[in-house]
Amino acid sequence: MPWRRQGGVECENGRMSAVWTEQEPSFLPATAERKIERENHKLEKRLCRLVGQAIGDYNMVEEGDKIMVCLSGGKDSYAMLDILLKMRQRAPVDFQLVAVNLDQKQPGFPEHILPEYLKALGVPFHIEEQDTYSIVKDKIPAGKTMCSLCSRLRRGILYRVADELGATKIALGHHRDDMLATLFLNMFFGGKLKGMPPKLVSDDGKHMVIRPLAYVAEKDLVRWAEVREFPIIPCTLCGSQENLQRKQVGLMLKEWERKFPGRLDNMLHAMQNVVPSHLADGTLHDFKGLTATGVASDDGDKAFDHEDFPAPGLLPALQVIKL
Ligand code: SF4
Repeated sequence: MPWRRQGGVECENGRMSAVWTEQEPSFLPATAERKIERENHKLEKRLCRLVGQAIGDYNMVEEGDKIMVCLSGGKDSYAMLDILLKMRQRAPVDFQLVAVNLDQKQPGFPEHILPEYLKALGVPFHIEEQDTYSIVKDKIPAGKTMCSLCSRLRRGILYRVADELGATKIALGHHRDDMLATLFLNMFFGGKLKGMPPKLVSDDGKHMVIRPLAYVAEKDLVRWAEVREFPIIPCTLCGSQENLQRKQVGLMLKEWERKFPGRLDNMLHAMQNVVPSHLADGTLHDFKGLTATGVASDDGDKAFDHEDFPAPGLLPALQVIKL
């Protein structure tokens, strides 16, 4: 158990000054420590359950798979590897994991952190060193966003590495909130009802990409990263601005969840429960050829009525979807 830092403000001779003290965990009352341990244990169980559920629902892992786990040094990919390692011990099928990090040669990238972490874990790993940073800096005029070219280069390199390693699946650390944010970004800016799938075939048609954290809330990953003390590598080394639109949509989702707990799980559930006849895409539903059947249906559109939804105060209790 690590030492804890405690911050505060002290008043001395009428002047306020910030103080930081190191405090041993034994200062915490035993009951408080037990409560934290219980909460952490519950969190671990929840993460394993949700990852297991997503793997099962989408048949993400099969006997004999070699899964390339893409590790960026951020909280999500650390957590993905951590949970997959736990699950492998009790999985009914046999599969291998190989962690892969792409060192893009960004200035200040602490290249020792991931190898040291992975060696300590005893996980097979590969660090691919490719100076995409210089290429991107060279090609993109100063002040323009570099992310699109950078991700394209990264994608191509990772597909090649997957081939070289003989990986049958590529695992990415996107979580529930990433999937929902993408859904809204596509609606707001792309004019498409299109999210981020838990499993897909890569754009080159050769690789199976899986997202084992598809059901996991970001806030659980933030907490798990604290619990496990992952050696997080900052993602701002390239100096590029984070995607502002994605950031704003992320804040919007957080705010909704704060006001209406359960809303994000409900939205994820909605992504799994699409009703093409109640949207407006003529390629998914034959609106032109519709004819009255003469048979009543409870699922049918009442046409003249507004649908009833629970009052906001009742929303969480009524609508939280248990995943
Ligand atoms: S933030 Fe930096 S490293 Fe990430 S995709 Fe954009 S340019 Fe590449």
